[in-house]
Amino acid sequence: MPHKRILVTGGAGFIGSHLCETLLEQGNEVICLDNLFTGRKENISHLMDNPRFEFVQHDVTEPIYMECDQIYNLACPASPPHYQHDPIKTAKTNVLGALHVLGLAKRCRARVLQASTSEVYGDPEVHPQPEGYRGYVNPHGIRSCYDEGKRMAETLFFDYHRQHGVDIKVVRIFNTYGPKMRPDDGRVVSNFIMQALKGEDVTVYGDGRQTRSFCYVSDLVDGMTRMMGSRDGFTGPVNLGNPGEFTMLELAKLVLDLTGSRSKLVYKPLPQDDPAQRRPVIDLAGRELGWEPTVPLEDGLLLTIRYFGNMLASGSEE
Ligand code: NAD
Ligand code: UDP
Repeated sequence: MPHKRILVTGGAGFIGSHLCETLLEQGNEVICLDNLFTGRKENISHLMDNPRFEFVQHDVTEPIYMECDQIYNLACPASPPHYQHDPIKTAKTNVLGALHVLGLAKRCRARVLQASTSEVYGDPEVHPQPEGYRGYVNPHGIRSCYDEGKRMAETLFFDYHRQHGVDIKVVRIFNTYGPKMRPDDGRVVSNFIMQALKGEDVTVYGDGRQTRSFCYVSDLVDGMTRMMGSRDGFTGPVNLGNPGEFTMLELAKLVLDLTGSRSKLVYKPLPQDDPAQRRPVIDLAGRELGWEPTVPLEDGLLLTIRYFGNMLASGSEE
């Protein structure tokens, strides 16, 4: 396959930096565009010497001018405390960011992939969630800037496809974890591991019986690149996630076991609109992409624990 010039927005973030690595390993030229709101230069510092890698500090709410063959649009804070920090900015990032990458894709005739989310299903009343489920989303709650922003981005992708023939691909990502998450990211896996390693109380929100399905980052990146390479005319949306479903209490106990920590569980109030359950149906990804996740939760957690352990040992989490 000829090598491509690929733009990754949000490329200095958790998933984006793994994606940049994989695309470079495949021999491509990669432009990582990021405003460094939640992304970190440390995530990509080892790529800076590669002549096929370029970092551009830029905000996707501003137009983007460059030449490229493919675009992965990941720019958007993903952790609830971070996307709720400035909800209006989060909405702009989702909507203006989508408009800008779609405009760029139209001009360059580039294939463009949107990192959508299981949050488009809201607090789902259908379980597990297939792509055909239209969701149950609060349009004016504290998660709406993200959920509705991502839904509007999907709308724009499909309208550019219908109206201008833009070559789109939409993946709906379910909870993904792994090395390179920020220690202060605020999502459950990084919170529990950091708390367990530091011997601090492990904060379970609500009664801890809500569920999530956790996908290790290498599996997700494999699914995303397969989707980018999928047959003409297959737009998705397609779910990418690991169907193994766990309560937050089960996750907390597993993290305590794997770290050997003696931290205590403490219960905190459940945030507003926190989904009660979430698990992907991944049959479509299996059929169209030949994809299924391969890393069990315990193995992925051990790799993530080692990453945060090294970070603490070197004092670089400050
Ligand atoms: P992350 O916060 O680590 O990465 C997001 C990146 O986007 C960061 O580098 C951040 O600096 C950058 N960014 C934010 N706003 C920007 C802007 N206005 N202009 C330019 N860059 C901007 O989160 P992540 O977990 O790596 O998520 C990446 C993408 O995948 C996001 O779009 C997220 O919505 C989506 N997603 C992630 C998950 C998950 O579980 N990790 C689940 C569903 C969807
Ligand atoms: N959660 C928790 N303790 C934490 C952080 C999160 O119990 O320290 C819970 C949160 O209420 C939610 C689940 O873990 O039910 C997943 O939260 P996260 O923010 O990781 O992702 P999302 O809610 O966006 O799926």
